[in-house]
Amino acid sequence: MTPAQFREEGKKIIDWIADYYEDIEKYPVLSQVQPGEIIGSLPESAPQKGETMDAMMCDLDEKIMPGITHWQSPNFFAYFNANTSFPSILGDLVSSGLGVQGMIWATSPAATEVETRVLDWLAEMMGMPESFKSTSTGGGVIQDTASTAALTVVIAARERATQFQSNEKGLDKKLVAYISSQTHSSLEKGIKIAGIGKANLRLIDVDENFALRTDLLEKQIQQDKANGFVPFFICGSVGTTSSTAIDPIRELGEIAKQENCWYHIDAAALGTAMICPEFRHFIDGAELADSYSFNPHKWMFTNFDCNVFWIANREELINTFSILPEYLRNKATESGEVFDYRDWHIQLGRRFRALKLWFVIRHYGVEGLQHHIREHVRLAQDFKTWVDESEDFEVVVKPLMNLVCFRHKASDESNMKLMNTINNSGKMYFTHTKLKGQVVLRMNIGQTNIEERHVKEAWELIQETAKNLS
Ligand SMILES: *Cc1c(COP(=O)(O)O)cnc(C)c1O
Repeated sequence: MTPAQFREEGKKIIDWIADYYEDIEKYPVLSQVQPGEIIGSLPESAPQKGETMDAMMCDLDEKIMPGITHWQSPNFFAYFNANTSFPSILGDLVSSGLGVQGMIWATSPAATEVETRVLDWLAEMMGMPESFKSTSTGGGVIQDTASTAALTVVIAARERATQFQSNEKGLDKKLVAYISSQTHSSLEKGIKIAGIGKANLRLIDVDENFALRTDLLEKQIQQDKANGFVPFFICGSVGTTSSTAIDPIRELGEIAKQENCWYHIDAAALGTAMICPEFRHFIDGAELADSYSFNPHKWMFTNFDCNVFWIANREELINTFSILPEYLRNKATESGEVFDYRDWHIQLGRRFRALKLWFVIRHYGVEGLQHHIREHVRLAQDFKTWVDESEDFEVVVKPLMNLVCFRHKASDESNMKLMNTINNSGKMYFTHTKLKGQVVLRMNIGQTNIEERHVKEAWELIQETAKNLS
């Protein structure tokens, strides 16, 4: 493809994407295809001869689009939001265009330095502790996902607990880690992959708001120590996946310091809200954390994938992950004046992901981002009020932010039937969880282009469908 052809086809694809957003509400939000339908529509072998872009775009419309669930629809209320925005899409396009492999500073200095600067901006925008800034002892790095950040941090914590010996010699201590029964499954995955063993992960019970109970944590730690275990890691959640519960961040940090444990804060979904000062009380005590992660690819209008990971002492990360084969030796690295981000995470190669964040932050500005977050929280609070006022429905946990957990005052089966009927209609999409053994419906409000009318219409549809089903 020549630059001239790229110019022509590229403009058509930008038009295609813009049309998609203009028409997005016409699609059924939840894809209605059956398993195997998409793969069955694609040829079994690759084409021998190259095809035209027109042929590909035609198949995109006819064969691929039916298998898309429209996460960017303002009628998408399922799971958590994974919102994007035009500035983010354009920033990512530039990154694809440059095709830079930014594994070390020397392979493209801008890829490293823009990332360092943008994550320092974010730390300031969110009132993060000074130690998370690159100008201090720590710094930020973009990872693909919060799951990878969790694994990275469990490995770094393991190395700290073994004086950086287990990388070399394997584990010779009975390390134990602590999370709550509501903590995201990626922590359990990290514990398994890092060789700690699931049997050495303690799931601490939660209180009536689904936040970790520190009295039980302290008891468990004492018991483990008495049995010869070495506590090494505690994770606090700011916004659990089921119900956006928030753990007692400061208390957990104090326990971690006292027990010599690595303290990680997982704020994957809710973290973006810290742009607004009025929500920062949720992370009071963050200065006690050794690491912190949140996903701009959830609520910050930045397309997947983009996780922001901050560390208070970057030396611990670098000592854990640094590898220097001969073919990557270079003057800049040896001078010690630059960051080589391959030493800050698991993989070697890395995309220029900071560009899309840089585009997003510059496009919206801090005030623009604050405006949208506040609006999402307001809409969720409105929805909660409507549920409170209805006779047939009830709110299950007081919504702290943009997720409302509610249910019809009927059986679990009725709630599931209500949800499935609505989702199969294609008009909106929402999902469920179980809290205290009971089915709970979740309305997650955080789509980039959501307006009040979408939330109102959703509530009307839910009420009407419930009436028709009873
Ligand atoms: C979504 C989420 C994760 C996992 O995020 P990925 O980036 O998909 O790995 C982890 N923790 C919490 C609290 C989450 O909401």
